[in-house]
Amino acid sequence: MAETNQINLKAVGGPNEALVVNTVRRRGPISRVDIAKLTGLTAPTVTNISGKLIEAGIISEYMIGEYSGGRRPVLLKANPDMAKMVIVDIRSKEVAGYVINAGLEISKTIHRDTRHLNKDEVLAVMLDVIGLLCSSEEGKDVAAIGIIVRGPVKSAEGVSLFSPSTGWRNVPLKFIVEAQFHLPTFVENDMRAMALGSYHYGPYRDIRNAVFLGVGGGIGSGIILNGELYRGLGDSAGEIGHSAVDVNGPVCSCGNRGCLEAMASETALVNLVVQAMREGRSSLVAQLVDQDTEAVKPEHVYAAAEQGDALAMELLQNVARYLGVGVSNVINIFNPELVIIGGGITRVYQLIEASMMEVIKQRVLESCFASVRIEYSAEGRAAALNGIVDLTMQGIIMNK
Ligand SMILES: [Zn+2]
Repeated sequence: MAETNQINLKAVGGPNEALVVNTVRRRGPISRVDIAKLTGLTAPTVTNISGKLIEAGIISEYMIGEYSGGRRPVLLKANPDMAKMVIVDIRSKEVAGYVINAGLEISKTIHRDTRHLNKDEVLAVMLDVIGLLCSSEEGKDVAAIGIIVRGPVKSAEGVSLFSPSTGWRNVPLKFIVEAQFHLPTFVENDMRAMALGSYHYGPYRDIRNAVFLGVGGGIGSGIILNGELYRGLGDSAGEIGHSAVDVNGPVCSCGNRGCLEAMASETALVNLVVQAMREGRSSLVAQLVDQDTEAVKPEHVYAAAEQGDALAMELLQNVARYLGVGVSNVINIFNPELVIIGGGITRVYQLIEASMMEVIKQRVLESCFASVRIEYSAEGRAAALNGIVDLTMQGIIMNK
């Protein structure tokens, strides 16, 4: 088998080749017939491409099953060492960096706290983490870099348009990183990466239409339509957090009033609790933060609610009902088979589920409600990592 540094993924490049490589990576060992079924490519095309990929050492043939007189099934599996990538995940409180291969095996991890850093310092930390990983023993022969960032992203150009947690606005991440490290770099929004990863590697991969809703400090989403990530014309699809659910509601981070994010995110929850405390309502939350309203975090509200605190429970139900409105809108618009709710709020899903479902039952059209499943997932970051690896692999092969 060829060594990692001898495999030239770009040389086999093309959209169909990328599709076959990623399908074998996700589903292998898999037969050529099944690859054709899953990708929609013709059998001769799959045979032709897989021949090329075997030649290059990217995939290999794999025999299984007893020989029973007929033809033994020949399956294809991916060479996990076909490519190594450096992935950085720019979270709200830290930058996490990984060296990971095409088989999703992580060989090195770095975490850096970014809690008290300004936007330029976060960028410097990100570049530092990438540099450390690329120059490490594990990061030798890295083929590409993938970046997961919160907030809207122009994926094709690799620009972070607005990232509330870092304060970035129009930061050309792809340009900056490629100029410094001379490696192809791919950037995606965390919710879309999570949607892709949950979809392709979770129990939901046979579902064709799904919406992933991340409810944390903000509310984002990733939309899978007909098995593909839907990005929209200007790369802006999925900003469900900024759909209005109360035109007279509080001001949102986008400047408008009453967006779902301003009514049903963890930030909205904390704002409601703080306002009530300042108006003199008593709550266990006050004890948990030593009366310091500035210090209230979602964890405090969840802890208080779990202990039966009336104020925390009341406001959590308030948020749950608006979340129900948001989920109802999503279901009525997309008629998906599945809605997955992820993000920080899933820690207390047992406390919000009843109120949310009551609103959903009330507001979703019967024809849509009958066919939809609503699930909760706490696997967000791991799913996002899998998703960005898929996008990065696709980018390397298509030589973008
Ligand atoms: Zn908004």
